[in-house]
Amino acid sequence: MEAEPTSGMAKSKRNKKGGPEPRRERPRRAPIIELEDVTKVYPGGHMALDRINLSIGRGEFVFLVGPTGCGKSTLIKTLIRELDVTDGSVKIAGRDIGALPEKKIPLLRRNIGTVFQDFKLLPNRTVYDNVAYALQVIGASRAEIREQVPATLRLVGLSTKLNSYPDQLSGGEQQRVSVARAFVNHPPLVLADEPSGNLDPVTSIGIMQLLYRINKTGTTVVVVTHDREMVDNMRRRVIELYEGRVVRDEVSGGYTEESTSEFGLRMRAEMGVGHQGEGQTTNGHDHERLL
Ligand code: ADP
Ligand code: MG
Repeated sequence: MEAEPTSGMAKSKRNKKGGPEPRRERPRRAPIIELEDVTKVYPGGHMALDRINLSIGRGEFVFLVGPTGCGKSTLIKTLIRELDVTDGSVKIAGRDIGALPEKKIPLLRRNIGTVFQDFKLLPNRTVYDNVAYALQVIGASRAEIREQVPATLRLVGLSTKLNSYPDQLSGGEQQRVSVARAFVNHPPLVLADEPSGNLDPVTSIGIMQLLYRINKTGTTVVVVTHDREMVDNMRRRVIELYEGRVVRDEVSGGYTEESTSEFGLRMRAEMGVGHQGEGQTTNGHDHERLL
């Protein structure tokens, strides 16, 4: 997206008398996601989204929940213009993406990292190349690729698997590759549609811990999940859909200052799972320093 005007970060200017200038109001930055009366009717007539209104601010961590078929994936797809809405407007960083010309859609998608339940990795490429590919397609320099790919794979705890192929990895490891791929260019927004849908509870906490860490860098994270226990324990904003409508939008306080490791420990304790499983590799201090 285009650079936003920098907000009121003026360095303590002084007026003629030497006193501080009165504080100017910060210009409000547009929310990263804004939906106004969004309706999606699929060909055949099924109304998957029914006048959705919601606003998600920069830096938020939001769960999107609801029963199968309630419209969660449809909503996610409208945010990357994989689907056009039937009515209403979808704004990303203040821009109505319905009005974007086709040729600008790749630019939109560069700014939105996506993670799916089925990983969607390229089977004939190594872990390194799967992540590098995400940078190559946006025209990153070789130097940038050589720096960012290993750093991001270290962040997700896969430094020792750079040369492995997806079918040589566990499900949790494959999902960490796809998280790395979604985040390697540090987009302002990451969308994850049931990222732990195929994973065991311990591994799921590991993935959630990664998304938590990504969110701590300032990236907005929206996670679709069925995992009620995870949602309850994370105490973050929860938007619930039912038959295409928002039926709950709750912000739950608490635990905002947790480090990623504290978060992982608490989640495992609250969900009654131990360290066994593949989810334990993400709380090393070396990762913490990277971002
Ligand atoms: P969720 O992700 O919450 O399980 P979806 O957004 O995938 O739900 O689907 C919402 C509703 O829209 C469901 O009833 C589903 O059958 C229907 N639907 C999804 N995709 C299509 C499509 N391509 N064509 C017609 N109906 C669809
Ligand atoms: Mg779905």
